[in-house]
Amino acid sequence: MSEFLNTPIEFLKGVGPQRAELLRKEIGVFTYSDLLEYFPFRYVDRSYFNKVADLPYLDSFAQVRGVLTKVEESGSPRNKRLVAKFQDTSGTIDLVWYQGIKWIKPTLKLNIPYVIYGKAKIYGSSFQIAHPEIQELDKADPMKGLKAVYRSTEKLSSKGLHSKGIEKLTSTLVQQINGHIPEIFPRQLISDLRLPERESAVKQVHYPMTEDLAKKASFRLKFEELFFLQLELLLRRQISLQKNKGFVFDEVGGPFLEFYEKHLPFELTNAQKRVIKEIRQDCKNGFHMNRLVQGDVGSGKTMVAFLCMLIAIGNGFQAAMMAPTEILAQQHFESISELCKNLPVRVEKLSGSTKKSSRKHLHEALENGEIHILIGTHALIEDTVQFKNLGLVVIDEQHRFGVAQRSRLWQKNERPPHILVMTATPIPRTLAMTVYGDLDVSVIDELPPGRKPITTQHRFEASRLAVFEFMRKEIALGRQIYVVFPLIAESETLDYHNLMAGFESISRAFPLPQYQVSIVHGQLKPEVKDYEMQRFVKGETQIMVATTVIEVGVNVPNASVMVIESAERFGLSQLHQLRGRVGRGAEKSYCILMTGQKLSKESKTRLETMVRTQDGFEIAEVDLELRGPGDLMGTQQSGILDLKIADLTKDGQIVALAREKAREILAKDSNLSLPEHAQIRQRVVKILNEKPNWGRIS
Ligand code: ADP
Ligand code: MG
Repeated sequence: MSEFLNTPIEFLKGVGPQRAELLRKEIGVFTYSDLLEYFPFRYVDRSYFNKVADLPYLDSFAQVRGVLTKVEESGSPRNKRLVAKFQDTSGTIDLVWYQGIKWIKPTLKLNIPYVIYGKAKIYGSSFQIAHPEIQELDKADPMKGLKAVYRSTEKLSSKGLHSKGIEKLTSTLVQQINGHIPEIFPRQLISDLRLPERESAVKQVHYPMTEDLAKKASFRLKFEELFFLQLELLLRRQISLQKNKGFVFDEVGGPFLEFYEKHLPFELTNAQKRVIKEIRQDCKNGFHMNRLVQGDVGSGKTMVAFLCMLIAIGNGFQAAMMAPTEILAQQHFESISELCKNLPVRVEKLSGSTKKSSRKHLHEALENGEIHILIGTHALIEDTVQFKNLGLVVIDEQHRFGVAQRSRLWQKNERPPHILVMTATPIPRTLAMTVYGDLDVSVIDELPPGRKPITTQHRFEASRLAVFEFMRKEIALGRQIYVVFPLIAESETLDYHNLMAGFESISRAFPLPQYQVSIVHGQLKPEVKDYEMQRFVKGETQIMVATTVIEVGVNVPNASVMVIESAERFGLSQLHQLRGRVGRGAEKSYCILMTGQKLSKESKTRLETMVRTQDGFEIAEVDLELRGPGDLMGTQQSGILDLKIADLTKDGQIVALAREKAREILAKDSNLSLPEHAQIRQRVVKILNEKPNWGRIS
């Protein structure tokens, strides 16, 4: 970057040490370049004027033309203010200053046309605009364009750096930047995408002449931001592929063939076949696989994982599978043991509840390679497990494991095992490209045949008896039912209370001996939880009352109704996950969302979305819009989504374009050594050196 752009912000005219301190602290502006990247969040059209009479009804900044009819100071000497009556043809409003009175007052002239800009607020019994911008109409900016509006903070505003104050600074700076912001993209790209030049984009984003120019400038800057993000991700991936040689699984091997030919319980879906092929390619070529498999709830990820584990075993390696909860680990253990029944494959489980004595045996058998598949919870990585030759790790429901946990797994081997991450929380494509940009992504976009759509309904508390009646009918048909209550850390005691109250009311409505009701929640001992879960799995109980511990992965095909209590308190992806617990068998299934009468707008949107669609990707898009990307993946801390101008919830198309262009450039010039890529190279090297390696899955 040029010297000029690195100039500390206090050297800008109008800043000085005090304001510089605030700019650094409040909005992270240290240098000229930082200020230029402090982008406006919207614009006001300077050619449009409001009427004074309308101001009280506008909840936003507005621009008015009029005259001052009176200017006077009032208040006590310690608490002075300056009040000016401002009038247009429609009415009068007070303009008020609490600061800078000494130098503002002499500039105000009566009865000449002014343009003012500000936000009207009610104060006592009258409307006023505090600290408006004010300019004589004649001298008002001849530029007809838009005016940028910047975010400010209370502290900044108190030092005159409200939006207008910041605008003054960017204006001062923009006038000096000529020739200091060299183009960074190659000619070809600029002309292909019809991008404005970099310098002109920076100018126009702060001082656009027209709306169209503002849009072009912001497109260019968003593209640039996302381009470097994508380039960074692609390069990281490229580097890791070069650095980390992966184990070679060069044949599918005996166990796979035997299972596939003799024991496969159903025909694989095309999507399953395709994904297995993709995985197989990864593991064959000597690279290190780092692949994310996204597949909606019930799309059959377990079978894909299992077949891949068989391939690892067939090539002489061991495989491990990690699940986020004890229940899920148990379930995987059972279903995979069942699948291995007729194969020369030994499967074991390791979890927090594994006894010390059996642990010792497990360890030995793992180290000498007798165990082929180890299934477990995070105990897998916390324990001192050593494998003989771990070749593949499957991580189920990825988002529950932190990056730090995953990297522990990596350290288990000198050579990293291949990593397969399975997630049922579909991530919108654009976000996946960014959050998981250095992973390869496979999508199982097809459900096994014969699944009937799940009917989803929203019911208020008042319909509870009807809901109970419906539940009885389903039970009479031989089906099973989940009733799920929220349990949220912040209100745990209250939630726990509600859960127990709910359990009692259900037990009363569904009395013994005709009905059996199970209950499972986080405070139960693992053995008790397991026991209750097993009763339900075996069909001994008809109703399972639970908290979200059952959210992930549990598979009871006979369960056909999911009742979600206080559904308004669940997030969309959680609701979708919960609903995915039913509709797994051949029976028609239902999801009933119970809520109170009062619902926020956002809750309504969530409920409507659930009722409308069952498509996990569509739901993920709505979720992304509602919550913003940071929240979605728990990526807040990683800082990767600290974008300055682009917005992942809105700029999906630009993300895709940026990725395509970044790919094109790397395909042509993989280490960016061509002269036309020199600038790009310089910048991306800096980024790679500065940022911690957040994206590593392993
Ligand atoms: P998820 O992707 O949510 O983990 P599972 O792997 O638990 O889904 O699979 C859901 C159910 O679908 C299981 O009962 C599984 O046996 C069954 N299943 C998986 N693949 C197929 C298939 N190709 N045909 C029929 N049933 C399948
Ligand atoms: Mg699963």
